Amino acid sequence: MEKIKIAIIGSGPAGYTAAIYAARAGLNPVLFTGNQIGGQLIFTSDVENYPGFPNGILGPEMMSIFQKQAERFGTQIRYSHITKVNFFKKDASSYHTLTIDNQIDIETEAIIIATGASAKWLGIPQETKLQGKGVSSCAVCDGFFFKKQDIAVIGGGDTACEEATYLSHICSKVFLIVRKNKLKASLFMQKQVESIQNIHILYNQETLDILGETSVTGILLKNNTNNETTSIQLSAVFVAIGHYPNTDIFKDQLELDTDGYIITKPGTSKTNIPGVFAVGDVQDRIYKQAVTAAGSGCMGALDAEKFLSHKNKL
Ligand code: FAD
Repeated sequence: MEKIKIAIIGSGPAGYTAAIYAARAGLNPVLFTGNQIGGQLIFTSDVENYPGFPNGILGPEMMSIFQKQAERFGTQIRYSHITKVNFFKKDASSYHTLTIDNQIDIETEAIIIATGASAKWLGIPQETKLQGKGVSSCAVCDGFFFKKQDIAVIGGGDTACEEATYLSHICSKVFLIVRKNKLKASLFMQKQVESIQNIHILYNQETLDILGETSVTGILLKNNTNNETTSIQLSAVFVAIGHYPNTDIFKDQLELDTDGYIITKPGTSKTNIPGVFAVGDVQDRIYKQAVTAAGSGCMGALDAEKFLSHKNKL
């Protein structure tokens, strides 16, 4: 069976940054891209908040630059998906096993998990077509593009209230569309959104569709109490109903929180298994930005390097 020193799972900002650091530290990393080569940013057009690109850059272009930088120092890129993992739990000097594309097993001394988290969507007709054209799952990423315009945030939890609050400073009117007759956010967040003048909370509203041909022009709602439909004209819809961390293959292998995020030791990328590190959105339920993912990828590589040099002295 092939044996390697370090495997990196994921090809988003976290995975590629971990690869750059691990390769420059002489660890000969092998990076498995997964099915979404380049991660979440391949679905976006302009990225304007990543330092180093004063004129902004297209998401796919940025990820291709990340990949080139990782390859320049000797990272081996493999265009495969990891379908199973088997982590050794007791013996820190053992190898962990990864199954690639349900076919081959590979053994590795250390692993950096950078599998990200996917936004949950509503599943309504026009949502996919208008993503990047006014439909977004990230206020911090895309809010600026809708400065002084009317927009909607869909959801009733803490995330939706946080997104609405953030957008209320940038946009003219923020419609907070809530399916139930109350918010399920914490009392503090409820009070906050209720107190902001340009946030209009619409309760009992089911989102039937997003309107627009080439970009968002409005939203179609149905009132759950009387089945009346209404449409509101606006320029963007932020879907804020949560994320799924991509951790299905790690269940029963790693310590996860109740929503499935990998738990890391505070201030580090260490998981509860020696030699297994988690970086980027897969362990971050708060920030979820390319720059924070990249920063945490760097932490993962430095933690892994320390682990390997200590292990090889044993
Ligand atoms: P991801 O980018 O999610 O990458 C995860 C990687 O893991 C993928 O390559 C996937 O193929 C791989 N993977 C998953 N499972 C497996 C497996 N089993 N085996 C192998 N590989 C696997 N952030 C900003 O800072 N600025 C922006 O302007 C911005 N705009 C955004 C626009 C959109 C539409 C979206 C969705 C997000 C945006 N973000 C933005 C957020 C940013 O994309 C994420 O925070 C960042 O990509 C997280 O990086 P990551 O490396 O942790 O994970």
